[in-house]
Amino acid sequence: MDWHPIDRFILLASLVMLATVVFSIALAGTMALAPQYLALPVAWTLLGLYGLHIILLASYIWLAWKRRRRENDWPAFENIVIAGFVINIILSSYLTGTYFTHGLLFFFVGVNIASALTWVTKILVAYWTVLVTLITFATIDFSGAFKHAPLLSRSVYQPDGSPVIGWLFIEVTVAAIHYSVLYLCMLVIRRWAERENLYREMSNVDGLTRLINRRCFIERAKNELARAKRLSSNTPKSLGCIMLDLDHFKHINDTWGHHAGDAVLVAASEIMMANARPYDEVGRYGGEEFAILLPGVTLKIAAGIAERLHKAISDAVVEIDGNRISISASFGVACYPTHAISDLNDLLKAADQALYEAKRGGRNRVILANTTDQDGVTG
Ligand code: GH3
Ligand code: MG
Ligand code: MG
Repeated sequence: MDWHPIDRFILLASLVMLATVVFSIALAGTMALAPQYLALPVAWTLLGLYGLHIILLASYIWLAWKRRRRENDWPAFENIVIAGFVINIILSSYLTGTYFTHGLLFFFVGVNIASALTWVTKILVAYWTVLVTLITFATIDFSGAFKHAPLLSRSVYQPDGSPVIGWLFIEVTVAAIHYSVLYLCMLVIRRWAERENLYREMSNVDGLTRLINRRCFIERAKNELARAKRLSSNTPKSLGCIMLDLDHFKHINDTWGHHAGDAVLVAASEIMMANARPYDEVGRYGGEEFAILLPGVTLKIAAGIAERLHKAISDAVVEIDGNRISISASFGVACYPTHAISDLNDLLKAADQALYEAKRGGRNRVILANTTDQDGVTG
């Protein structure tokens, strides 16, 4: 699903909480209407544990809700929710004796929904943990070594401890049907998630350089600017932007061929990626024009980064078909909130204007927006 990860975890936690609420209501209802079937001390303990689970989940959802303003991801939250669900299912299944049907049914429904919401591998680990534990329970149980369904005061076992065969057959058949159908659903959902990831990558990534494309860059840049603006009411957060364009690129194509031009584009992209931090965005903005977004970076630091890149690109030599091709690029640098910027267009325009000045001034240099000062680099 194309959602903010924390939002997906919140939905996952809410679904788990809903399951626990439904269990609690069913248990409380049975305690009120048919207490003679229950071992009441066990029932009260289980109800207390459900209550605790609901309170913990509600607290985590609240914390996640606060955190989503600042952070994109919170893997620990996801792990806690999944582990809590697994413990809940195992405990409930043991106490109520629903080894084969209801515990598994709830679990498989959870697996299906959850595999669309979180990382499928984590769900598979949870899935096998529950399955193996419940089979172990059932095996020990049938050997008579362990009390069946301590929540229930009336057993589905014969006085000699053996299970009622008809009941056992129905439970196993129902479980087998649920198991097959729901496991199939999970495989379908996993395949769907893989395809979605592939399509998302195809629509966001440039096929030649593997950088994000212009559309994706603009989308992410809009989010970063909105975040920088929102945070600036308390702690100012700056957002640097560098635009760069390879110099005389047409000449490279004309002299060494289009495939050599492609190799130059790939080499320049690799240099940019090697110089970027994990949370910077580097995009292919046009043919041989690139844009870099630097969250939390001031104009001075952005200028320093542009200088470093400028040097790395000018020092690079691309070898193709035995030819050694030297390259250079021109850079424009702008920054929020240093420059008067109200939206993303202003930021990109300011950086682009500076890039234009760099080209006009002779290329192979770094120019800061809104200033005619060249920062000491010449070609
Ligand atoms: P300047 O220094 O002013 O930027 O000059 P330039 O030659 O770099 O710029 P110009 O806009 O004249 O030419 C850019 C060329 O880039 C034209 C286009 O054919 C080429 N180009 C665009 N995309 C690709 C690509 O994916 N691969 C290759 N090999 N060439 C490309
Ligand atoms: Mg160019
Ligand atoms: Mg160009």
